[in-house]
Amino acid sequence: MSATTDLQARFEAVLMPNYGTPPLALVRGEGRRVFDADGRAYLDLIAGIAVSALGHAHPALVAAVADQAAAIAHTSNLFLHEREIELAERLVSLLDTGAGEARVFFANSGTEANEAALKLVKRAAGEGRTRIVATEDGFHGRTLGALSITGKPAIRDPFGPHGTDVVFVPHGDADALHEAVDETCAAVVVEPVQGEAGVVPAPEGYLAEVRRICDAAGAAFVLDEIQSGIGRTGRWFAHQAHGVTPDVLTLAKGLGGGLPIGACVGLGRYATAFAKGDHGSTFGGNPVACAAALAVLDTIDGDNLLASAAELGTLLEHEITALDHPLLAGVRGSGLWLGIRLNDAASAGFQAAAAAHGFLVNALTPDTVRLAPPLTITRDEVLEFTAALPAILEEAR
Ligand SMILES: *Cc1c(COP(=O)(O)O)cnc(C)c1O
Repeated sequence: MSATTDLQARFEAVLMPNYGTPPLALVRGEGRRVFDADGRAYLDLIAGIAVSALGHAHPALVAAVADQAAAIAHTSNLFLHEREIELAERLVSLLDTGAGEARVFFANSGTEANEAALKLVKRAAGEGRTRIVATEDGFHGRTLGALSITGKPAIRDPFGPHGTDVVFVPHGDADALHEAVDETCAAVVVEPVQGEAGVVPAPEGYLAEVRRICDAAGAAFVLDEIQSGIGRTGRWFAHQAHGVTPDVLTLAKGLGGGLPIGACVGLGRYATAFAKGDHGSTFGGNPVACAAALAVLDTIDGDNLLASAAELGTLLEHEITALDHPLLAGVRGSGLWLGIRLNDAASAGFQAAAAAHGFLVNALTPDTVRLAPPLTITRDEVLEFTAALPAILEEAR
């Protein structure tokens, strides 16, 4: 029995079966490399679902976490601490807020950031504005509020009835959105690129249309950048490529570089829509998580990782597209966030073949493989993967 199969047997005996049994057990990581329980090394091209932005055991993140844990690890919201202020200041400084202000609420995850956003827009909405318009196939999280606006029937429907009045429209269809948004609509919630749907970008001009439709109807524009934000697409936030600013922005995944943190940013009148007592979290804004997030933002800034994500993302996409293989249908996405499209439902086979060759990727949908490597990935590491790709495709077929 290998160390991995032994751990899998113990996992199956005590963990709830909701995830199935993962194929690998990871023990440690270093840079973009991770090591499993049987000592095998892998180049990490998924980064714990677009989370480990600095890769693994990055010295800046390790020092920030260790120093903060040694100083004070938790204060609760009964007391303030400087890290949460610094982090909120930094996030606000990265946004184009025009003349208006922006303020932050910290949570512990993406789904909680969206819960905060839903409560915020309900608080800001006038009498009779209760409807939320969201997108088919969109993903916003697993807790009941975030789940109610998630447009995936397979994960949503078993847990109804949902308390929220929600209407779903096709992602990228401005006409359908226009039809659905009226004076009863509190908010429109969209992702700039639908991550869990297969890394599907909105068509050119769509986000500007969402902005226009929300303004015309007096509804809030909530942008879920939980997966797309913090450098993933080569900009701090994906919406910055579209010349629009949302009213509410949610963040998580890459923000903490592996430490759990989520953020809900309210702009303009949404900055101050919560009154005292309207929302809260015991762990939200935890000092260790905030220190980690500051290390992530500092390192992205100091090491020019936005430019690198744009450049190496283009290289990765170019190298994949240049391959001629019958299983390869194309590539979607931008920056270091790509969906490799297959001509067949072979993504699980692709993922297994990639692991056998020493690469971690994610079988996202039956015919899409997701790549979301650490933003610190190097040119050589990109080419290491693309050199192995023909063999991986051949084995996946
Ligand atoms: C991952 C994700 C979420 C949920 O985040 P959790 O931290 O898993 O709760 C919400 N929205 C989007 C777009 C995501 O990718």
